Amino acid sequence: MLGNRTFTMIKPDAVAKNNIGNILAMINNAGFKIIALKYTQLSREQAGTFYEVHKERPFYTELVEFMSSGPIVAAILEKNNAVADFRTLIGATDPAEAAENTIRKKYAESKGKNAVHGSDSDENAQIEGSFFFSGLERF
Ligand code: UDP
Ligand code: MG
Repeated sequence: MLGNRTFTMIKPDAVAKNNIGNILAMINNAGFKIIALKYTQLSREQAGTFYEVHKERPFYTELVEFMSSGPIVAAILEKNNAVADFRTLIGATDPAEAAENTIRKKYAESKGKNAVHGSDSDENAQIEGSFFFSGLERF
């Protein structure tokens, strides 16, 4: 199973713009199976914990504020080479640098409000998925 799963969130900017369906369709059309799915809103404290790895970065406070500002969709996704292939599907952190036909190119508005999260390693995919989902919530 290692290497076959990643974790994503549809961020508050994309939810507010009614792009949940469009983004889930891009994910399914790229061959990812949805293993777990949740529509929820993070508290500031939860967003701070999720992004703790970035706590020394200058954008951390703004990121935590933004990620707790409205509802998000969290999901665990399965596909061969899931982490790397999903990073390709979402595109660069800054939509101005994202490739054509990537989720961020199509739906992100800025480097901060960039529509989606994607795990950066198998280890973090496991940690992040377990932050949101119990074993009973995975299919
Ligand atoms: N971020 C930001 N400003 C920056 C870099 C990152 O606001 O200069 C935000 C952005 O929402 C990004 C998140 O912090 O998605 C996590 O940053 P990371 O470098 O891990 O980018 P990602 O892995 O999401 O592409
Ligand atoms: Mg990252």
